[in-house]
Amino acid sequence: FGFKGCQKIRGPQIRNLLEAKDFFLFDCDGVIWHGEKAISGATAVVNSLIRRGKNVFFVTNNCTRPRENYVLKFSRLGFNGVILEQIFSSSYCSALYLRDVVKVRGQVFVIGCDGLRRELLQAAIPCVEEADDPGATIYDCPLAANVKAVLVGHDDKMTFLKLAKASCYLRDPECLFLATDNDPWHPLSGGRILPGSGSLTAALEVASGRKATVIGKPSRFMFECISSQFSGVDPAQCLMVGDRLEVDMLFGSNCGLDTMLTLTGVSQIEEAQEYRNSELTSNHSFVPDYVVDTIADFLPAFEE
Ligand code: PLP
Ligand code: CA
Repeated sequence: FGFKGCQKIRGPQIRNLLEAKDFFLFDCDGVIWHGEKAISGATAVVNSLIRRGKNVFFVTNNCTRPRENYVLKFSRLGFNGVILEQIFSSSYCSALYLRDVVKVRGQVFVIGCDGLRRELLQAAIPCVEEADDPGATIYDCPLAANVKAVLVGHDDKMTFLKLAKASCYLRDPECLFLATDNDPWHPLSGGRILPGSGSLTAALEVASGRKATVIGKPSRFMFECISSQFSGVDPAQCLMVGDRLEVDMLFGSNCGLDTMLTLTGVSQIEEAQEYRNSELTSNHSFVPDYVVDTIADFLPAFEE
């Protein structure tokens, strides 16, 4: 062997790891829930970590809801007392990026769901009003003045006209091109998939000849949001738990965190081993330090 990473851990090793870390970053879908259903044991794990005084954060690329909806979802699914401040979503972090990093002066053209627009509104970021006349085409619809950024996220009402308008705004080199996240697709039940934000961003990248700046995982920005809002967040004291190698493990490795893959979501252990055994060293950033079948494997560590 001689390869590092991908260590399947159990029992006492999990207990030691949980004791050693002070900050736990959990991806949401595929780790603590599947859509509207909590993963078995996840509520007990999260509740126990919080009760033990660990700092728990949620880092989700799902940009379709504002954070207050997540607070309600956590409580509905049985997670006790999760508060707004623990939730870092790609929509919230996009709003912070526009407000605090680029300090956008002007309007933002948004491809995305209402939840994304609501998050921007709360940060006082002005968005172009979408009042499309259903008969309008790109030949005759007006373009807004003073558009300083195009932000693309998951949009279940994506249209050709939105793509066309966004491509026109991006002709202006001063207009920023941002994406909430770059996730390619998401699993649904019954073997179906949902195309992700990344699929829409890719279309606009081709049409504009530009590359989007990604705000969500695997970019470091979400971690910067956490460490700017909480003091003493030392990467060496953090564990990032996720289900997707190219998103969550890369995020953890970009931020210098120990990473754990849980097998209740998208990625399989065989894919992680392939990355580990790869001669291309850049592939090693996708390799988790630790692997568990499910975060329910943490539960015995909380027993006396
Ligand atoms: N974006 C959308 C639209 C989703 O439906 C999902 C998962 O269901 C995600 C992103 C991924 O979320 P997470 O980062 O919590 O896995
Ligand atoms: Ca996930």
